Amino acid sequence: MLRSVEEGVDVLDRRERLPPKVSVRLSAQFRDVPYAWRTVNVLEAPPPRFAADEVATIAARLFGVEGTATSLGSERDQTFLIDDGAGGGGVIKISNLGEDPAVLDLETEAVLHVAGVDTDLPVARPRPVAGGAPDAAAYRPTVAGPDRPHFVRMFERMHGRVGGTDLDDDALVHVAATHARLNLALRAFFSPAAGRELLWDLKHAAALRPLLTSISDNRRRRLVAAVLDRFERLVLPRLPSLRAQVVHGDFTLDNILLDQHARVAGIVDFGDICHTPQVADFAVGLASLLRGRRRDDVFRLARIAVDGYARHVPLEQEELDVLADLVATRLALIVAISAWRVERYPENAHYIQSWDADSWELLEFFASVGAEAVAIEFGAKAPQIPTPELVHRRQRLLGAALTELTYDHPVHVVRAEGVWLFDVNGRRLLDAYNNVPVVGHCHPRVTEAVARQTRTLNTHARYLYEPLLDLAERLTASMPPELGLDTVMLVNSGSEANEIAWRLATATTGKSGAIVTEHAYHGVTSAVSDLSPEEWPDGYRAAATELVAPLRLEEDVAHAIERLEENDTGLAATFIDCGFTSDGIQTPGHDGLGAVVELTHAAGGLFVADEVQAGHGRSGEHLWMFASYSIAPDVVTLGKPMGNGYPVAAVISRKDIFDQFAGHARVFSTFGGNPVAARAALAVLDVIEDERLVENAARIGSGLRRALEKLRARSAVTEVRGRGLLIGVELSDPATAERVVNALRDDGILIGRTGRDGNVLKIRPPLVFRDHHARMVVDALERALDGN
Ligand code: PMP
Repeated sequence: MLRSVEEGVDVLDRRERLPPKVSVRLSAQFRDVPYAWRTVNVLEAPPPRFAADEVATIAARLFGVEGTATSLGSERDQTFLIDDGAGGGGVIKISNLGEDPAVLDLETEAVLHVAGVDTDLPVARPRPVAGGAPDAAAYRPTVAGPDRPHFVRMFERMHGRVGGTDLDDDALVHVAATHARLNLALRAFFSPAAGRELLWDLKHAAALRPLLTSISDNRRRRLVAAVLDRFERLVLPRLPSLRAQVVHGDFTLDNILLDQHARVAGIVDFGDICHTPQVADFAVGLASLLRGRRRDDVFRLARIAVDGYARHVPLEQEELDVLADLVATRLALIVAISAWRVERYPENAHYIQSWDADSWELLEFFASVGAEAVAIEFGAKAPQIPTPELVHRRQRLLGAALTELTYDHPVHVVRAEGVWLFDVNGRRLLDAYNNVPVVGHCHPRVTEAVARQTRTLNTHARYLYEPLLDLAERLTASMPPELGLDTVMLVNSGSEANEIAWRLATATTGKSGAIVTEHAYHGVTSAVSDLSPEEWPDGYRAAATELVAPLRLEEDVAHAIERLEENDTGLAATFIDCGFTSDGIQTPGHDGLGAVVELTHAAGGLFVADEVQAGHGRSGEHLWMFASYSIAPDVVTLGKPMGNGYPVAAVISRKDIFDQFAGHARVFSTFGGNPVAARAALAVLDVIEDERLVENAARIGSGLRRALEKLRARSAVTEVRGRGLLIGVELSDPATAERVVNALRDDGILIGRTGRDGNVLKIRPPLVFRDHHARMVVDALERALDGN
């Protein structure tokens, strides 16, 4: 049973229809004002009817603005241009009797606030009465009318034209960007009067259902009803958690004046100002930009307008999720209010219906596409794709050369936080495996550093900017000072870092042989894959690479050097990952590694410490794993955890080595050390320090190792080893290790396998691991080993 608004909808009536969460609390000054007066009466009360010459006299008398008055056409008020004949004058507004002075003051204060905050925004400023006191009342003197006095306001005269569908892409983006600037300028503005309930405020859209009876065409009425249904079901419940503030409320092309370059030259009419979700306000503007556009261009234009807005106010995902429905709701309000008012004021039909055709056209287009699909076009989250379908697409698109998915039951993740990954079914998985998110997945210090820098500047190292040099200084300062590792080159991946290290070594030593551990991995490039026996195909041997066993280092290296010298390649470099991660996580004695460095130097080679996997505090002793062995590398390479997931890597060496290399070649990597990468890397170093993650790695790691040791009572566990939060649990055979890793995954805990035989469980969590996380790993492992 619908009651028409004309009959008067009282507060109770309305409150009943609005869910309690969004029912608007009335500020004290409004509480005793009848609802109809506040919302509907301005539309119902007879508009003022002053003649032009009377208005000119009023302008001159009250505001000292002389000129001829020309009506600008307005429905509920009277608006006149006062033209002084020389481009000056002003715009005078005589208000409807229903107008509330508190609302007029709200407009005045808001415009003055904007003008004070963003002085370049061309808002039409109000003008106080000539010689009046500088208070709110000075901006709204009254003139006597036939019934009661009317408030009168004078605004700055703005020049420009009104735009429409002629606006090109740049203009559209600019208008949307200006809208965002206006909202930014208003974000600190407050006035209790802005809490008013306004007919056009989208958050109250559901209350306008009674107006639908005025839409005579059944199909169209159902169309609008369907929009309001979605609004109530999907949008309204989300609005209370979205950013809200005082907004213009009607930032449409009708209220913007453009200059000859289609730049916004005037923002007028703050008459719909209210406190509402920011995205609802943007939707009002966006609807105006999209009305009248070709169907096949609407979504593209919507997206570039969103981009324009995002130049100053990036929309949150929750806002993008409701944007399209809010645009549709705005269109629904336009046609519903128009139908209702035409019934009442048929003589004004032309003015009232001026937006109708375009609005219906867009509503019908949206309906033909389907509201869900429209929402996605506007930026709403698309539904998740079922895991088997993703597996299939991966196989089809990414080819056979990419390594296989981990685990028998692939992990399909949608988000992550700290030590947790969340899968597509909402299940959380404890990440005890990934070293890249070293400070925890999606750490806000890193994500914000990346986002902020991305918004500010991203370029390359042929230009000057601070973050790169700040990072270079931080990295060199993090190296043991006696080593003279004072020069840094930033690149994008561990492989690239090792490739540069290899080039440094071959160029400066003039040799071409390498020594690596027997199951090492150093990267994917052509040269470095020859240093990565882990990935060698069966039967392959790189001609100039000698392999050494992590637990027989001194002996093996000595022989390796002999062989390299015999076959005339000589030793260019020894590459060692001091965590021996792919060699099954080994912890050889200090002497062995010390001897390797000495022998390498004696043979004229460089020692490269590959910290790509084990670095950034995992040892629990130092930031760099090599420091646990008190050795002196010539080159240190960093990568994976360096940006907590943002691609950034580094090669650190001595100036003399880089100088010598520069005699052979100059290198430049486009993305290497870009400002965003540098900010990410700096943020990671900051968090490691601030959260004392090296100490945490030591404490949690030793506790975890102790607890794992107890599992040695089980026959399958042969050894537990490692440093800090890099732990290997050697099992009797690879098949058991594989079974255990999969059982843990099914139990919600991610670990991996390593070692030549793949029989070592690899536990390598983010360094923000806590005791209870470690406990979960141990308990799950116990269950898996017991076959439960
Ligand atoms: N060195 C080591 C020790 C590594 O573990 C890796 C990657 N697993 C690399 C180098 C190569 O790094 P990226 O995959 O970033 O090229």
